Amino acid sequence: MGDMAEAGVVAFSDDGHYVENAAFMRRALEYSSMFNKMVIDHAEDITLTKNGHMHEGIVSYELGVIGRPAVAEDLAVARDILLSEMTGGHIHIAHVSSKNTVDMVRRAKAKGLNVTCEVTSQHLSFTDEYLREYNPAFKMAPPIRSEDHRQALLEGLKDGTIDAIITDHAPHAYEEKDHEFCCAPNGFSGLETSLAAVITNAYGPDKLSIDQVVYYMSTRPAELMRLDAGVLEVGKPADITVFSTTEEWTVDRNKFYTKGKVSPFDGMTVTGKAKLTVVDGKVVMKEGVVL
Ligand SMILES: [Zn+2]
Repeated sequence: MGDMAEAGVVAFSDDGHYVENAAFMRRALEYSSMFNKMVIDHAEDITLTKNGHMHEGIVSYELGVIGRPAVAEDLAVARDILLSEMTGGHIHIAHVSSKNTVDMVRRAKAKGLNVTCEVTSQHLSFTDEYLREYNPAFKMAPPIRSEDHRQALLEGLKDGTIDAIITDHAPHAYEEKDHEFCCAPNGFSGLETSLAAVITNAYGPDKLSIDQVVYYMSTRPAELMRLDAGVLEVGKPADITVFSTTEEWTVDRNKFYTKGKVSPFDGMTVTGKAKLTVVDGKVVMKEGVVL
């Protein structure tokens, strides 16, 4: 970990594979704190998620699909907040999906612990009701949950409990993902829809302001990774996205630049579109065309 920190890694993660062994996680937090890096935690207790394919609740019972209960995330988060408190290491909970997690992180922050977290644009956009047609594009881990959880995630952003909105970009070849629901892998390509998903589903009156959207998708992630980015200031890198908050468009997965052409947003009409992307002063995307 020291060599990697020296070579420039920004964080350490177990993404996709929760660290079951508590002693191992303790060491990871101790070592990472020596290098001032965070541990990004895919928090799901696998003894409770094994063989599960969606949120455990009324919809999973009705569909007869084995669930992944929210408490699987809650238990993992509780343990890792306690280990962060013990070691002082920075734990960052990836893709928070459960209301109890939001509560625990809120309390940890009130205590001044070294705990941060993030939410995906898809967990802000969908509930398990979308799984009634068994469309594997909506299958992800942690799963999209019921409306009470979705509302708690939005509340967590509004009061600053949640630090960032992320894509959890997980491209799969179409033939990999195009399977019976229970055989399909988790995740989808989130990069090209995340801004529109947030503007459509989490922005507006009683939701987030545009300043909050920019903070959660740019400024704060850069701070967490300690990157010299995410601000508009003289002398800083000119990495800029110009976007519309009102333009409507229909998502067409075949027009994605990524080769992972699976998206739960496919065919949906969404609001908000990136118009121009500038990287280090150079225009790299204009009106949807990568230059
Ligand atoms: Zn993950």
